[in-house]
Amino acid sequence: MPIFEYACQACGNAFELLVRSDTMPACPSCQSTQLDKQLSVFATAAAGEPALAAAGPCGSCGHPDGPGACAFN
Ligand SMILES: [Zn+2]
Repeated sequence: MPIFEYACQACGNAFELLVRSDTMPACPSCQSTQLDKQLSVFATAAAGEPALAAAGPCGSCGHPDGPGACAFN
């Protein structure tokens, strides 16, 4: 389920919204639908276990000693 982050163009309110494809997102503060869609960290994390793994200590094997640690063993 995608969660998007929006910034309201009308009042500047920033918020996260769980959006269904058939739902028009609206600002919870002023009900405006003039929204700028932001990149959501939650959506990114939920969608990408590959992205999570790449951001881990070692991109390829998860070695705890850091990037490239496994390459020297
Ligand atoms: Zn607003």
